[in-house]
Amino acid sequence: MLQSKLFIKTIKELPKDETSFNAKELIRAGFIDKLAAGVYSFLPLGLKVHNKICWIIRQEMDAIGGQEILMPALIPKEAWATTNRWENFDALFRLAGGDKKEYGLGATHEEVVTPLVKKFVFSYKDLPAAVYQIQTKFRNELRAKAGLIRGREFSMKDLYSFHTDEKDLDKFYEVVTKSYFKILERCGLGGLTYLTYALGGTFSKYSHEFQTLAKTGEDTIYICQKCKIAINKEIIEEQKVCPQCKKKDFAEAKAVEVGNIFKLGARFSKPFGFTYMDEKGKKQDVVMGCYGLGPSRLMGTIVEVCHDGQGMIWPEEIAPFVASLLKIKNQKSKIKIDKVADKIYEDLEKAGVEVLYDDRENVSAGEKFAEADLIGCPYRLVVSEKTLARDSVEVKKRDKKEVEMVKISEVAKRLTHNMQHITESDFSEC
Ligand code: ATP
Ligand code: MG
Repeated sequence: MLQSKLFIKTIKELPKDETSFNAKELIRAGFIDKLAAGVYSFLPLGLKVHNKICWIIRQEMDAIGGQEILMPALIPKEAWATTNRWENFDALFRLAGGDKKEYGLGATHEEVVTPLVKKFVFSYKDLPAAVYQIQTKFRNELRAKAGLIRGREFSMKDLYSFHTDEKDLDKFYEVVTKSYFKILERCGLGGLTYLTYALGGTFSKYSHEFQTLAKTGEDTIYICQKCKIAINKEIIEEQKVCPQCKKKDFAEAKAVEVGNIFKLGARFSKPFGFTYMDEKGKKQDVVMGCYGLGPSRLMGTIVEVCHDGQGMIWPEEIAPFVASLLKIKNQKSKIKIDKVADKIYEDLEKAGVEVLYDDRENVSAGEKFAEADLIGCPYRLVVSEKTLARDSVEVKKRDKKEVEMVKISEVAKRLTHNMQHITESDFSEC
């Protein structure tokens, strides 16, 4: 993409009421725009990152047999009333339709997915089943002060699974746990995220959260020094020892809950009368699990943990572009630099490397460097008189100090080669 054509600009004046680091940084770099507390627009660069996170989630959900659907956000009161959540779900946005009917805006979708899947599942032969969606959710959060980490409107991937019995649910629950760690690894948060025991519900003693270490996190977790799993503060009073090794050797840390998985049992299938016929022809309640993960919260969390004083440092797989290409001109060599830089950009695009080409005229070299750092693509490529004298491009990784001269003819190969390395090593602990 040509930076000269990008309609957004980096911003120097931030909204006065914005206090969270992730939102300030993302607004400054022109990734998002703030409409109200906890309500943001995604601009071209921000949407690219968000879509890449969603793409990774889709790949991993499909890989474990999830089937993607899309449910409505406008959910009639009756559905919520069936499970007693019309009165009891504090964060539900309730609104009146023109037909005098009332609706709740989708804050979660058990009330939609349960009767939906019921229409297609009759016998044990139809189970297990797993459906998911990536959708905008609405919650009337009291404190929406953490930028993308706590939106009133935000994106969620919600997966729901349906089983004949608890044993089958347990098996799938393990599969989802592994899949979540793959997603988080690919998003650069693998090494920073702990499986955390949290409050369960009526059906199971615990639910499990995926808590990513971040100094600014709203949650407090206790990490077992032996098992590397954690316990949420909510349950530390009841659960004083590690559920795995039974020891008490914990380290306290601040973290962000990026995902949460639950065994629901028949909590929702019962009120909706969702049963199946077992092998003996007997009716049984369908056993359910639900699994949430927040792409927009993930994006905010990544900014909180992957940055330096100059700006964001995106992990390769979710960076808006692999590289920023900066054209730095002086009067003497003007014409040639234009031509060579254009050609490098075209060659990189042809080789499948996504590049943000800073082709802007009348923008100083200093500004170009500062903006490239702020935007945070994994590589910075500079074409200048100095580099052309050596028939080269200056290559620098966003998180390293060293620069390297790479022959123009080698740049595309070099970046596509490095693309594989990056996700495996450099950014896994950023
Ligand atoms: P929290 O305890 O932080 O309020 P929650 O436990 O209510 O979150 P869930 O209902 O488990 O959240 O939602 C599943 C996932 O959706 C969360 O793990 C998180 O990634 C995301 N999520 C939930 N609420 C928000 C929000 N207000 N803004 C952004 N993402 C959210
Ligand atoms: Mg939760």
